[in-house]
Amino acid sequence: MQMDTFDTIRMLPKVELHIHILGSIRPETLLSIIDADGIKAPYTSVEEIVKRFEYTDFANFIRSYMEIVEYITNEDHFERITYEMLENCVKSNVRYVEASFSPRDHIPKGLDFEKIADSINRGIQRAKQDFGVETNIRVDLVRSSSIEQAMEILDMIENKPDNIISIDLGGNEAQDPPGPFAEPYMRANTMGLHRVAHAGEAAGPDSIWEAIRSLDVERIGHGVTARQDPELVEYLKREQIALEMCPVSNLRTGVVSSIKDHPIREYFDKGLLVTVSSDDPSLFHTDMNNEYIQLHQQLAFTVPELFRISMNGIDAAFLDEERKIQLRISFLSELNRIIKESNL
Ligand SMILES: [Zn+2]
Repeated sequence: MQMDTFDTIRMLPKVELHIHILGSIRPETLLSIIDADGIKAPYTSVEEIVKRFEYTDFANFIRSYMEIVEYITNEDHFERITYEMLENCVKSNVRYVEASFSPRDHIPKGLDFEKIADSINRGIQRAKQDFGVETNIRVDLVRSSSIEQAMEILDMIENKPDNIISIDLGGNEAQDPPGPFAEPYMRANTMGLHRVAHAGEAAGPDSIWEAIRSLDVERIGHGVTARQDPELVEYLKREQIALEMCPVSNLRTGVVSSIKDHPIREYFDKGLLVTVSSDDPSLFHTDMNNEYIQLHQQLAFTVPELFRISMNGIDAAFLDEERKIQLRISFLSELNRIIKESNL
């Protein structure tokens, strides 16, 4: 088979560590949910939804996201959304996923935490059977929540451990800095949960320092603005705190002016533990194949460098060491097969 570099990049095995379940909803699925539930929405076609998923800035994006939250009036919808999200991941040869949901957004609409988690898990199980993809869940405490509300979510997780492996802090960081969440994060740590926070996306490097110092995070969601602070870049490198970078997301929300302007190349070259994810693939018109191809086209990442990014994903994953070794072995054997087939 004659393969070009793009085919090779698509074939690379990948890890997706930063993906929001609701931000992965297919426009067709959103439309069918709206129709089936008889909801009044400002759009009546897939084309109109796709057009609505275009933003001029971060605040605009959050508004679009919250609009979707309004249309999810039944926990069962999460099964289909999760299954389809994973079906899309597999098309990019993603083998392991850590997917996030934000119960705080749905509870005021009368949805139940346990039912949402069960519904997501049905989607995960079906996707595992059909595609072999492995998935764990992280729960976004939502930074606009009060500390009491965050603690309530931790109570719910405590009663329902399953495959919830981590907490996260998403939302508008420019409005709500991470510091006040120190107490819930400390409790999550004692509960054996891993800790991530979105930081350095819509706010400066101080937001990243605060997430590290106050929340004791193990990974940073985004971390784009770390480049403004050389001391922080050095610290991230020294401590090997993984960055879940989402280049296309950052382009769509105006965090960077172009992929060429994205700091991922600089961080990678300096030896930071850089990973790549698609964030809200439907809302940003992207997928993991596209993320890798953009890095190749715009920032000259070679196939071996992109494979390194996949391996970084395994290093940064919240999996035990034994599982990581198995994944590394299978990724390496896939790479060998790809090299043979593509005559690299
Ligand atoms: Zn995110």
